[in-house]
Amino acid sequence: MLDDLNISKDLEKNINAAKDYLQQFKTGTMGHFINGKRANGQSDQIFKNTSPVDSSVLNEVYSGSTNDINEATKAALIAFPAWRDMSGNKRRKILHDVANKIVERAEEIAFVECMDTGQPLRFMSKAALRGAENYRFFADKAAEATSGHSMPALDHINYSIRQPIGPVGIITPWNTPFMLSTWKIAPALAAGCTVVHKPAEWSPLTAMLLTEIMHDAGIPEGVINLINGNGETTGKALTEHPDIKAIAFVGESKTGSMIMRQGSETLKRVHFELGGKNPVIVFDDANLERALDAVIFMIYSLNGERCTSSSRLLIQESIHDEFVDKLSERILKLKVGHPLDPTTEVGPLIHQQHFDKVCSYWDVAKKDGAEIKVGGHITKAISGGLFVEPTLFTNAKNTMRIAQEEIFGPVLTAIPFNTEENAIEIANDVKYGLAGYVWTGDVGRAHRLGRYLDAGMIWINSENNRHLPAPFGGMKSSGMGRDGGDYSFEFYMETKNICVALDNHKVPSLGV
Ligand code: NAD
Repeated sequence: MLDDLNISKDLEKNINAAKDYLQQFKTGTMGHFINGKRANGQSDQIFKNTSPVDSSVLNEVYSGSTNDINEATKAALIAFPAWRDMSGNKRRKILHDVANKIVERAEEIAFVECMDTGQPLRFMSKAALRGAENYRFFADKAAEATSGHSMPALDHINYSIRQPIGPVGIITPWNTPFMLSTWKIAPALAAGCTVVHKPAEWSPLTAMLLTEIMHDAGIPEGVINLINGNGETTGKALTEHPDIKAIAFVGESKTGSMIMRQGSETLKRVHFELGGKNPVIVFDDANLERALDAVIFMIYSLNGERCTSSSRLLIQESIHDEFVDKLSERILKLKVGHPLDPTTEVGPLIHQQHFDKVCSYWDVAKKDGAEIKVGGHITKAISGGLFVEPTLFTNAKNTMRIAQEEIFGPVLTAIPFNTEENAIEIANDVKYGLAGYVWTGDVGRAHRLGRYLDAGMIWINSENNRHLPAPFGGMKSSGMGRDGGDYSFEFYMETKNICVALDNHKVPSLGV
């Protein structure tokens, strides 16, 4: 078990602290949180939650039954009117209290997340704080969530208001579970919706911490409920429940299709944040030092398990060899290691099944005729965990599977291009359209690429820098709908128009 690792003093201290934080999950099988209380639920189906660090069992978890989903939805439905009618200012205060409590427990959240997901501490320590920021941002918008527009006409005044849609289901993935849960739950609560949350079965721990924090901060009983369980059973039951008015889902594109089918009978409103195969395009007129840093960061941070990772490097032919050489040197120096080591840059992959999927692409690349320029192995220096070498494929064509499929690991595919048109054509020739990154010194070209790339989010001369009021989401198979700022409220709320006559228009009189 990680016996080959050189354990530094800092790492040893963090491992011991993590053991203490994880103890709370060992006291019994983890269940759900319904109507303000922990509940074991009505199913005897139990699954084991393992750590990617050493495959040890972190805890056991009940998989929620349809009855558990019914109970949670009933609680959310009963709690809805009072939460909907609470003043925006009062909701604002409670959501700020949630943020304060997240900050107080930031180390615990970060350490538990690292052990549950394999994500390195250098990123996860900020994830808890970013989660708190999500609550603060939407807390401050709570009072204006119901605001609409005034549209006066000659004889009538039309005005719109927004009203929360009702109890909603939120289904989240395993890659950065705490941050993503806050990103979806905070706007739903600020809008006045009540929530049933189903976190991913491969990393369920911090969702329970978040739920308890919300409860402790004064979110009333029934407003936030959590049901653990498998997607195919528990998740499916949530998407099919008639009293759940909308499903906010983050996960794979093929799961999005399933959820759309499952929710069709009850005409469920859906919001999807799905997969990506995002291009980073580097032109020869770019600031290449900054571009190199960004290219490395956007695929090898968060273990490459990131929806917005730039997993395709489109590099102009004139600088291809030089850029790839510098890139390779840097990849070889990336520090793969224990997620709780503060110096670690790449940690282990989430789960054996996902590890096998990522590793299967070494053979796919060779079979398709690409070159494995760097990596392409499990990390031999570390035994016991799901560690892979950061990998770079070169000599690739955009038609290859390594350029078309979301690998979701620390694996980059480099593809040369010659002209701007050629870059756009290659960039758009995938089924996904989540994000695109462009590096160029030419202002006109930057704006042209911004317009012609088929993706919901384009970053020019930048890595993924987030601004909370800005729309976040994807085109094509990468999603449907936008999060962020007011866009989130559009999903969680109904817009209603109210038309008031000024009593001076002629009402048609029939049968006179
Ligand atoms: P996944 O689709 O396998 O699972 C996501 C969630 O859906 C889990 O909670 C799972 O239990 C649940 N689920 C599975 N089948 C279901 C069903 N039939 N009905 C209801 N729920 C079901 O995704 P994953 O492997 O956990 O996450 C990785 C994926 O998430 C990647 O494709 C990644 O790009 C995507 N992602 C997208 C964004 C974004 O903002 N666009 C952010 C993070 C992750």
